[in-house]
Amino acid sequence: MTQTATTPAQAMEAKMDDKPMVYVNGAMLPKSQAGINVFDHGLLYGDGVFEGIRVYRGRIFKLEQHLDRLYECAGRIRLDLAKHVTRDQMTQIMRRCIEANEITEGYIRLVVTRGVGTLGLNPFHCPEPGVVCIADQISLYTPEMYENGMRVVVAERPRIPVECLDPRIKSLNYLNNILAKVEAIDAGCLECIMLNTDGRVAEGSGDNIFVVKDGELHTPPVTEGLLEGITRRFVIRDLAPMAGVSVNERTIELSEVMDADEIFLTGSAAEMIAVTKIGKTEEDAHVIGSGKEGPITKQLRTKFRQVVTGDNVPED
Ligand code: PMP
Repeated sequence: MTQTATTPAQAMEAKMDDKPMVYVNGAMLPKSQAGINVFDHGLLYGDGVFEGIRVYRGRIFKLEQHLDRLYECAGRIRLDLAKHVTRDQMTQIMRRCIEANEITEGYIRLVVTRGVGTLGLNPFHCPEPGVVCIADQISLYTPEMYENGMRVVVAERPRIPVECLDPRIKSLNYLNNILAKVEAIDAGCLECIMLNTDGRVAEGSGDNIFVVKDGELHTPPVTEGLLEGITRRFVIRDLAPMAGVSVNERTIELSEVMDADEIFLTGSAAEMIAVTKIGKTEEDAHVIGSGKEGPITKQLRTKFRQVVTGDNVPED
């Protein structure tokens, strides 16, 4: 007997496959049909920039800062984004995606590619940038890891030097980070500490790093080769002052990380999470502080949750 009709399970699977609706260059398409042109330099060369943004209570957390970074990063790769898509239009694209997918708590991935061009590297043969916006869910770590902290490794691969490709540019070239993350996965954990080529602490593969010592926060300055995270800035400008904790942006040696009272990571996707062990195995890992989420990390994480679950989720 030949089977022509789809089973209910197949129909369900196809339907699930079609969510979220994705914005691709002006069209709102079901997931299964959301694709880009193979001549897009975003695909051919990783030529483009992107943002990862949280949605809390239907509002776009730190929207203006994400737009600032997106347009600045586009400028730094010589892409005049505002000429093609205004900030208001970009905001509307995000809001349309949130609405189409009925997202109140979620995550937006906003991607700007160089656009369709020829097979050579020359970016100026791509007349129109591509814009893709996905509003969906993300969960990087387990609830248990948020409660108890997690183990990380120190990646052997350094962060790409500022003079080669400034990590402040959130570009579509993420292989440096991905291969560092693979080092973590190979060691049975999910994140790593990346050093710069001078051997000092830079950041995680997808998060910024903070060290707590004697009641104060320390985090490397962007000149050390790291993405200027918006969550990092939220900690520095808002959460730490709210908690009466001072912050020092200064160079940090790996030995200081090992000797920290507490360590935590920040990122839009990760939010805030404690690092409680550093090493390639659970058994031999170096324990940070008490081995649990420390009091300052907990206090800041509580404040973070208060803001993002509150009535006035900031879109500044
Ligand atoms: N560093 C890297 C390398 C990142 O990719 C990210 C974002 N995932 C961060 C830091 C954190 O930045 P933000 O707080 O803006 O998400």
